[in-house]
Amino acid sequence: MSYVFAAPATPSVEVAGRADRFPVHRVYCVGRNYAAHAREMGHSDREPPFFFLKPADAVIPSGSEFAYPPKTKDLHHEMELVVALKSGGTDISVDGALEHVFGYAAGLDMTRRDLQSQAKEKGRPWDVGKSFEGAAPCGAIKPVEDAGHPESASIWLKVNGEVRQNGDIADLIWNVPEVISHLSGLFTLRAGDLIYTGTPAGVSAVQPGDDLHGGIDGIGEIEIRVV
Ligand code: MN
Repeated sequence: MSYVFAAPATPSVEVAGRADRFPVHRVYCVGRNYAAHAREMGHSDREPPFFFLKPADAVIPSGSEFAYPPKTKDLHHEMELVVALKSGGTDISVDGALEHVFGYAAGLDMTRRDLQSQAKEKGRPWDVGKSFEGAAPCGAIKPVEDAGHPESASIWLKVNGEVRQNGDIADLIWNVPEVISHLSGLFTLRAGDLIYTGTPAGVSAVQPGDDLHGGIDGIGEIEIRVV
């Protein structure tokens, strides 16, 4: 294959304990998937899961400097369990969904909350609020052989050492198999897909100079510095 200019590099994520990296195909995200976070965003009823996407090249590694994005005055952190797929398909059953999981990671769904709120008010897409440069920091992926399929684990985020988010992945409204099953009814899932599964309560604004350090016990950690 030859191209009219150099093809962009394949985005990828470190795999804990391995030299080979995880090549990223797509980045899917689940909205409002912890009840306490849904409440803090002004919603109360359980509703079917809904999704948005980020570009694969929005993935940046732990240890990165995160450039405060333009056109916002309200940049929020959302600490999330990330599911990494090794295979996929369409209309995957809940019972068979975990067979497609390569591993799990700790990630951040960085959000220009003011732009997202404007989009919600006007019935417009969320892209400018969610899909900017570096908007999907992702820590090293821990393979299933080492991590298992965690159903309960503390998920936390500190800003400058102060706890802002502290939840448990057991409180996901739609759990990992259900999310994979729903998503595969809308999209053809593939090896290399990452799924950000939603954030617990405690989202808040960050500023240049802030250090964000989060983790999911037994899975991994993520740390970025906003510049
Ligand atoms: Mn999120």
